Amino acid sequence: MGNYLITNSKIMTMNEAGDVLENGYIAIKDSRIQAIGPMDTLERQMYPGYKEFTAPPYAKPYVVLPGFIQTHIHTTQALGRGLADDVDLIVWTRKRIWPYEAALTPDDAYISAMLGIAEMIKSGTTMFCEASGEHPDSIAQAVLDSGISGTVCLSTMDLPGEIPEALRMTTHEAIERNLALIERWHGTEERVDGCLNILNLFLSSETLWKEFTKLSKERNLLLQSHVAESKSEVEFVKEKTGLTPVRYLDSIGALTPNLLAAHLVFIDDKEIDLLHRNGVNVMHLPAAELRIAGFAPIAKELEKGIPVSLGTNSPPCNNRMSIMDDMWLAGLMHKAVNDDPAAVPAKAVLRMATINGAKALKREHQTGTLEVGKLADITIMDMNKVCATPTHDLESTIVYQATSEVVDTVFARGELLMEHGRLTTIDEGWIIREAERRAHSIVKRAGIKL
Ligand SMILES: [Zn+2]
Repeated sequence: MGNYLITNSKIMTMNEAGDVLENGYIAIKDSRIQAIGPMDTLERQMYPGYKEFTAPPYAKPYVVLPGFIQTHIHTTQALGRGLADDVDLIVWTRKRIWPYEAALTPDDAYISAMLGIAEMIKSGTTMFCEASGEHPDSIAQAVLDSGISGTVCLSTMDLPGEIPEALRMTTHEAIERNLALIERWHGTEERVDGCLNILNLFLSSETLWKEFTKLSKERNLLLQSHVAESKSEVEFVKEKTGLTPVRYLDSIGALTPNLLAAHLVFIDDKEIDLLHRNGVNVMHLPAAELRIAGFAPIAKELEKGIPVSLGTNSPPCNNRMSIMDDMWLAGLMHKAVNDDPAAVPAKAVLRMATINGAKALKREHQTGTLEVGKLADITIMDMNKVCATPTHDLESTIVYQATSEVVDTVFARGELLMEHGRLTTIDEGWIIREAERRAHSIVKRAGIKL
């Protein structure tokens, strides 16, 4: 691992005060941020042998941000993107994605995760949380090999429903397999972490929810799930329990600060209060929600002070794994729904993609802002691109205007993962060839007809 010096740059710290250094530097030593300051205080002799990153003097300066954090993404579905477009949810699930997941080998899952991670790095993401993976050890290996930080989990369903045999497990097996994953991957706050998973309320028992909630409290584990994602889920839970999903989870004590709840689209004001009061982590997945669900009440949640975070969710229902695309959508879609062009401003979206993600994953002491002593999780943007020109307001340019084309250089834990647009830990040509080959082989094996 080298040491690095980023100079003559605009530094958006994303700290509590929202400090921006107009012309600043950052020194990276090993895995951490060693120093940050204005250029006129830089003492170069303090940093001998540090490799320097700076924009040419005739160009606009680099913009430096904390690496983005995706709190909900299904990397093992990356080889299935494009497999289920323009079909209804029944076909999406039963005819396309479940057969795809059931046919996935551990090596397929590794390549799928690598493809997802490559796209994440190329769009400035340095940390993610898997939403419900198959073969979590393969995902963990991809995290280790690529240098990104990732929390892995096992897609867990303990009720049979209509899921393929290969994806079924009993409540006992669900607990055992999740505990084994936690033993292997949780606890050190290193590159790989592990969390508990319950896929959704359709396919899980109350026993499992109670057991995992207890475990998550006792051992301070995150529990990842999808909640109030569709109208049919709300109807199903109401019929089964007499309550809406959020009220039901409240009634069994499952709303906790360790719950990572994705979507929460079909909820009312009382349920927003319940989420807020119990410190539940709300994850917003704009593209996927536009595709299959609707409009989560994000503006209201932000107004209440809920630190909503962002994810790109499932590649077969979003198709893009660049968080910058979802930042763009998050900034736009709530303006329409709330009939308010000032709703969910760029500033809020940037916080969702950085510090709020760190808070959701309980890593705000490590990442999410640029501060001395924190992990060097850093994205450098080169604004000398057509899409970023002109720049009147930096936050607006990043959220509404720029695409991931501006992401130039990325560090995670001080390791250089992309240098001037070139991935340094993943062979891009190889991953494209392998991903294309394996994706077609899975479709053939699973007998999926488009
Ligand atoms: Zn999801």
